[in-house]
Amino acid sequence: MRFSSLGSGSEGNALLVAVGRTHVLMDCGFGLQDTVARLTRLGVSPQQLSGIVVTHEHSDHISGVARLARKYNLPVWLTHGTLRSHAKAFVGTTHIHEIDPQLAFVIGDIEITPYSVPHDAAEPVQFVFSDGARRLGVLTDAGCSTAHIEQTLSGCHALVLECNHDIEMLMNGDYPYSLKQRVGGRFGHLNNQESAGILAKLDISRLQHLIAAHLSRRNNTPALAVRALSVAAKCAESWIGVATQENGFAWREIT
Ligand SMILES: [Zn+2]
Ligand SMILES: [Zn+2]
Repeated sequence: MRFSSLGSGSEGNALLVAVGRTHVLMDCGFGLQDTVARLTRLGVSPQQLSGIVVTHEHSDHISGVARLARKYNLPVWLTHGTLRSHAKAFVGTTHIHEIDPQLAFVIGDIEITPYSVPHDAAEPVQFVFSDGARRLGVLTDAGCSTAHIEQTLSGCHALVLECNHDIEMLMNGDYPYSLKQRVGGRFGHLNNQESAGILAKLDISRLQHLIAAHLSRRNNTPALAVRALSVAAKCAESWIGVATQENGFAWREIT
């Protein structure tokens, strides 16, 4: 199983997971041309995609989904709430699958387990991807942890974890008060320490890859995010990857 990112952050997100010939895109917050250029950089053509799974209706995750799906005739999997919140955009998109946030489903050679997260969207989920033997857990856009999140992510072979902001930088920064409350609130985004706290509770004995994702340009730095996660995982800072807005991250193989 391999995975990579087209880009990560409040200006657009898309993650790519591949097992054999199956390529699943998780979210697409980039325009059509930009998406194709980013896929090409990773050596994948849009025709090779097996489908798109969507976490929630915020534009940095969904804005490019419907156009990409229509242009390349790709099936889309999303919750009822996400679809309802973005229904207009999907008019004319033929293959829409509404998922139950409690039930795993299969796309080609990849099993996908959605799980619910606290976030200020209609019916947000995040996903665990598996080839039957190994598991990649992805968690971004969550305001806080839950027992269910920790249960789901425990024992994964790879983790992509939101490190949205450093709490000091957010609170001392120039965001308006209401936005600080939203981002830092229980239905906003995970800060470095919250992510580190989640990581410390997980079984990471099988972990091969750890990536900090969805970093705020204004309220975080890669160094702060990596430091927080390395303390929690008791690993070298150089072992942890950071997903960037411009380039995401290159392919990583789970063995
Ligand atoms: Zn987001
Ligand atoms: Zn969001």
